Order: sequence, then C-alpha cells, then structure tokens
Amino acid sequence: MEGQFKVIIVGGGPIGLLAAHTLHRAGIDFVLLERRLSIVEDVGASIVLYPQTFRVLHQLGIFETLFPLGTEIDHHLSFTKDGKVFKESPKFQKIRDIHGYGLTVFHRAELLRVMYDCLPEASKTKILTGKKLENIEAHDDGVIVSCADGCVFQGSMVIGADGVHSTTRRLMRKIALTDNPSRDWDSEQPYKSTFRLLYGAFPASSPPGQGYDVQSSGKSSMYFSGHRHGWFFLYDKLPRQTTESKRYNEKEVETLAGEFADFPLTQTLKVKDVWANMSATGLTDLQEGVVKNWSLGRIVLVGDSCHKFTTHLGLGLNNGVQDVVVLCNDLGARVREAPDECPGADALVQVFERYETTRKSPDCSLMGDWENSGLETRMHTWSSTFYWLLSRWLAVWSFGEYLILRFMKSPSFQKARVLDFIPASDIMKGNSPWLYQMEEPEKMR
Ligand SMILES: Cc1cc2nc3c(=O)[nH]c(=O)nc-3n(C[C@H](O)[C@H](O)[C@H](O)COP(=O)(O)OP(=O)(O)OC[C@H]3O[C@@H](n4cnc5c(N)ncnc54)[C@H](O)[C@@H]3O)c2cc1C
Repeated sequence: MEGQFKVIIVGGGPIGLLAAHTLHRAGIDFVLLERRLSIVEDVGASIVLYPQTFRVLHQLGIFETLFPLGTEIDHHLSFTKDGKVFKESPKFQKIRDIHGYGLTVFHRAELLRVMYDCLPEASKTKILTGKKLENIEAHDDGVIVSCADGCVFQGSMVIGADGVHSTTRRLMRKIALTDNPSRDWDSEQPYKSTFRLLYGAFPASSPPGQGYDVQSSGKSSMYFSGHRHGWFFLYDKLPRQTTESKRYNEKEVETLAGEFADFPLTQTLKVKDVWANMSATGLTDLQEGVVKNWSLGRIVLVGDSCHKFTTHLGLGLNNGVQDVVVLCNDLGARVREAPDECPGADALVQVFERYETTRKSPDCSLMGDWENSGLETRMHTWSSTFYWLLSRWLAVWSFGEYLILRFMKSPSFQKARVLDFIPASDIMKGNSPWLYQMEEPEKMR
C-alpha cells in the first residue's frame, strides 16, 4: 500500500475525537470511523475532568471553549442511606490548591459537541459517521478496514478507540489466534463486572458544585450538581461477578430506580424527587479490567477498549487522554524522522510496545488509578468489613484523607504527560509541580 502515512481511528467517542485533534496537530493524516449516525449523543451521563486533562485540552485549544460549560465541584458530603451525614470534607478544594484547577463536571454530550466543534473544518471532513467497523485485514505494508455499509478504507495503522465492547479488540484477537491458535491472549470478554450502574441527568435541582455520595451495604450513589443539570449514579452489587454484558430493559430500570427511591441526593432531595424529570437514563454493568494485549502489528488500542474503570473516581476518560498523549508523542516523532514520513511495520510495533509498557509502568498512574477506582467502589458499597472500616472510619478521619490525597493521589496526578510537540503556557499551576512540563512557546523551535 503506497502513499502517505494515514491513521484509521475507530470510534468517535471522547478518546477517538481526542486522537483526531492530536493527529491533526502532529500533521498526521487520519480518518475517523464512528458507527453512530451522530457524534453527539445525549445518554444522560456527566464527565468529571481532572486538571491533568485540562492541560492537554489547553494545548489542543479545546479548554477555553469547554471550561465555561463546566461546574467546579467544591462541596463534598457523605451520607448513610437514611440521610445521616457522616463526612464533610474539603478534598475538592485541596485538589485545586495542589494542582491549580479543581475537579469540574460537564454534561458528556456537551463535551463531545465542543470536541467536535473545535476541530478545524478540514479535519471535520475526516470524521465519518454511520461507519461501523466490521473487519480489519492486516498486511505487512498497511491495513484495510471494512465497515458494515460496504465502505473500505486503506491506512497505515488502526487506533481502536471503540470503547468497552471494542470490535477492534475482538478483530485483533481473531488475527492473533488465527496466526497462532495456542498464543496466550486476552479472552473475548476481558472485563469483569461486580456492580451495575443506573445513571441519569435531570434539570438542576440544587446549588451547583455539590459532589455527594451515599454509602450502604451493596448499594451506593453519587450526585453532582451543575449550573443546568444534576446527575446521579446509583450503584448496585450484582448477585455474582460476570464477564457477560447484559442489556437491561425498561422494567429492570424502573425496578432498580424504585429500590433507590429513598436514597438522598442532598440533605433535602431524594432520588424519587427527580426521577419523573429525568432527561435521559442508562443502566449498564460496570466492567473493570486492564487488557493484557494492547496492540498487534499495525493495530493499537486506546481508552475503554484496553482499560475499564469503575466510575467512582471519574478516571476512565481521564486515563484515555493519557493513552493518546503517550502514544502520539512517540508516533509523531517516528513519523517526523521516517523516510517519506512513513514509519514501517517494525517501527510501529516498537512505538506500540513502548506505549503499552509506559502506560502500565509506575511512571504513569494508570494501574494505580484503576485499583483506586475499584477500591472506592467497594468502600462505598461496604463490600466487606475491611472496606466498611476503611470508608466509615479511616477515610472519615480528615488527617487520614489529607495523607491519602497528599501522598497517594496527588503524586499520581503529577505524573500526567502533556503533548511534547505543542508549545503552550501552562495555566494549571498549583502548589505542587507537574513532573512533565510543557514547552513554553518561545523555547520551541
Ligand atoms: C455513567 C458514566 C459516567 C462516567 N463518568 C466519568 C467521569 O466522570 N470521568 C471519567 O474520566 N470517566 C468517566 N466515565 C468513563 C468514560 O465515559 C469512558 O472512560 C470514556 O467514555 C471512554 O471513551 P472512549 O472514547 O474510549 O470510549 P466510548 O466513550 O465508549 O466511545 C467509543 C465510541 O466508539 C464507537 N464504536 C463502538 N463500536 C464501533 C464500531 N464497531 N465501529 C465504529 N465505531 C464504534 C461508539 O459508538 C462510541 O462512539 C464514565 C462512564 C459512565 C458509564
């Protein structure tokens, strides 16, 4: 396959769109294939973004449009399910002090819209909807990708950003096991679910900036209030752990909402008070896992296709952003130095291996973030006496929480990378330095 180096991105979720922005800025041609008919779909979810992600969005020119649409979370309460407040903490303000910006909640649909709108017009023409990946042919000199509508695309490599049920991951597995059936590979359903999650959005019903949680045995909830929306997340422990992905019907949604009806969202608001006004809801099993194989030949995975977190800490998407940063920093450099700016198969394999090794190493926060997310979910659902003790006693002790934030969480946020080929002034500065600094504009050549 002759011609210019070209990346085929599969999936137009937040991480696929971020890859599109990043490749555009790296001067690398791409096409993005999204199976839905529209990039912006309102499923009723919120997204909390961390300051390390803002730095990357700032480099890409997205932050300035996006940030005013968000609401900084600045008040935390923990309740028992009968409404007793057992913890009020300044943890959100502390994160802002340490890292310069606080945790900020966005309506997911608005995040997607802004990410799409901020693409230059020439890049928007490369975002193709109604293109459901069906097959990938891997060749020594490139890839051929076919979609359900019969369209075929040729490229130099594939980035699979097609989410938790990734077809790219499934096809990669098929190619690997066709080549060598005894090869050690991830199973077809690599993630496990121990909890399910009912989430939804409704018109703002309390002052903005609240980030509250309710804890009980086997069930927990979270609530965020924005300027225009409120969002809740209702967690329910499954009868048994599963790798299957179940589709829930309306009746199951209503039944579960009924079980949570008297859960408090705030000191005055309960789930049943907002249920009739929901603008959108979703019920999904909450997959967890980090896949063993992130790439094969010219195919590589990013985002939820290669790691899936529980949602308690809001770190899944934030980690997908770091995937794109680490992958594209190296890929961009290899493209710039390659003859005809077209790195060969061996060079790509090396880039993908370095990317996976880096992301899974202690130099990045991925594995720790994944573990901490699962820990938080188990603490909030009092999954054993140990988790109950941690949540109801250790984490309630404000000095204990300070120690966790200062010496565990913040050091891991500090490891976050930035794009090394985009000069920008770092506007996110708190009282702890980032380990990876941005190149200031005047220092770049
Ligand atoms: C309720 C909820 C709240 C969350 N809150 C947070 C939070 O606050 N902070 C945070 O960091 N993370 C959060 N997460 C996790 C976050 O949503 C995911 O980590 C993030 O969406 C992953 O992005 P992605 O682009 O990898 O995958 P996705 O968002 O799943 O996007 C994948 C895209 O690929 C497309 N696709 C799938 N198959 C194909 C195919 N065969 N061909 C073409 N296209 C295909 C899909 O249509 C989709 O558009 C939350 C998750 C949930 C469910």
